[in-house]
Order: sequence, then structure tokens, then C-alpha cells
Amino acid sequence: MTDRYAVIGNPISHSKSPQIHKMFAEQTGQDISYEAILAPLDGFAAKIEELRKAGYKGCNVTVPFKFEAFQLATNRSKRAEAAKAVNTLQFDGSRIFGDNTDGVGLVRDIQVNLEFPLKNRRVLLMGAGGAAYGVALPLFDIVGSDLTVVNRTIEKANEMIQAFEIRGTLVSLYRYDDGAFRVRDFQVVINATSTGLSDEMPPLPDTIFARGALAYEMMYGRETPFMKFAREHGARAVDGLGMLVEQAAESFFIWRGIRPETAPVISALRKQR
Ligand code: NDP
Repeated sequence: MTDRYAVIGNPISHSKSPQIHKMFAEQTGQDISYEAILAPLDGFAAKIEELRKAGYKGCNVTVPFKFEAFQLATNRSKRAEAAKAVNTLQFDGSRIFGDNTDGVGLVRDIQVNLEFPLKNRRVLLMGAGGAAYGVALPLFDIVGSDLTVVNRTIEKANEMIQAFEIRGTLVSLYRYDDGAFRVRDFQVVINATSTGLSDEMPPLPDTIFARGALAYEMMYGRETPFMKFAREHGARAVDGLGMLVEQAAESFFIWRGIRPETAPVISALRKQR
């Protein structure tokens, strides 16, 4: 019998996840179906209950339900606990397992697909919202101590950092207008802000990129002002499509115990643009 999965969000029609999981299933010979489901803003928990009763095996969760999914999970992975958000649910009887695969997706895209090792690099993470929380633990684990966070609202960044200091990680924290931030340069700059969605440019200094730096935009689908700025300042600019496919591959692995090849899927999606 075909095992059923879905991605749930609001909005959801733009989601590439059904296409990605269809390619994974074909490639690995897994008999699954995967659809995009719109849940009402106040109806996430009811939708999950409906899917469980209908025999679904699991689902991905996207904006704005990742925090609700965290609450709903009866047990969670360490990385989901750190992110306080869940993008992957697995149903097993009355048990709902919650995981967060965004961070591992980002790290794998940078290190494996883009062949850019992160250990001991000077890395800047911009933002302290949902996306930044999602990637912070795997990123901090791999980078080591030279990690810097910059955020417009310093209180939010402070809150995020408190959670990581518990793990003994040394993190520098700045606002964009801090003098000490404006004289630093970075080998990797990750944009986990939502500025791409509104076509805004985070207020970065011209000197932000070290020679040969990687500028990683977590948004995908079009060139953002951050990517344009990075190119104009000599950095290699990439979008978050690879991360999207890698986080999906990790979810697929959690559900099916098989790791699909991501390179052909990323390449197929890029050709569609
Ligand atoms: P949130 O709304 O939770 O957080 C937004 C963040 O952006 C905050 O840190 C906010 O700062 C900052 N910000 C907003 N506007 C500005 C500005 N003008 N200047 C400086 N900082 C600003 O959004 P998410 O974290 O959920 O999403 C962020 C991005 O990540 C989106 O583009 C999303 O598409 C992408 N994403 C990509 C994924 C992938 O698989 N590729 C997965 C998940 C997310 P402040 O705290 O001051 O408000």
C-alpha cells in the first residue's frame, strides 16, 4: 500500500516539496505519495489530527506552523529542541516525532554541494528569526568558536545567543551599526533575514566579505538585493535552493531510512527557472 506524506503550510501553492519528494521516490523506488495541503491559520492541529486518522505516515511543516508543530510533537530530536521549531513530523500510533532538518540541510549544501568547509571559518549569521533558530545549532556545532550573529533587534539576538551559550559556544553578537561589527570581514555570510522577501538590503558595510567569501541567501527563486550586493563586492553568491532540497532529503531519510541523491534533483529544479 502506498504510504502517504504531505507538506502543510499557509500559503502552500508555491511549495516545491511535492515535486522534490516525487523525484526522491522515483529515484529510490519508494512507493509513496506526497501532496501540498493548505491548513487554515487557526486549524493546524486539527489538520494534523485529520491526516493521522487518515493513515498518513508523516508530513513536512512550513510557515507559519513550525512552532505549533514543535508544541504538537510528543517527542523531539535534539536539533528540534534547540531550534524550538519543527519542519518534519513522523506519525507512529499515538506518538508524533518532531525533527528539524533545516540546519543540516544548510550545512550539507554549503559543505558538500558547494564544497566550502565551514570548520574554523569566520562565519556571520544574519537574523534571529525562525530561519536563524532552525539552522543555528548545526551551524554552531560545525563552525567552532568564530561565529558572529548580527540582528536589527538586539534583544531577539540576545535571546537566541542565551540558548547557545548553554552549550558552551562562544558567539559574538552585534547590531548592524556597531562600530566593531563594521570593521570585521567574513569568509561566509548567511542571510537568514526575511529581507529577500521584501526586496530590501540588510545594512551591511562594503567591507563585509573577505577575499573569496561565500554569500548564502536562504531564500530561493530569484536574485535578492543581498545576492546582488555580494556579487558586486567580489563574493560568490548562492541562493537557498540547495538547502531546500537537502532538508527534504533529510526528512525523506527520517521517514524511509534511505538517503536520496540530491544533485540531480537540484539540477532539475534549476533547469525549470
Ligand atoms: P522571521 O520573520 O522569523 O525573521 C525575520 C528576520 O529578518 C529577523 O531576524 C528580522 O530582524 C530580520 N529582518 C527583517 N527585515 C529586516 C531588515 N529590513 N533589515 C535587517 N533585518 C531584517 O523570518 P524567517 O526566519 O522565517 O525567514 C527568513 C528567510 O529564510 C525567508 O526568506 C525564508 O524564505 C528563508 N528560509 C529558507 C529556507 C530554505 O530551505 N531555503 C528554510 C527556512 C527559511 P528583527 O529581529 O529585528 O525583526
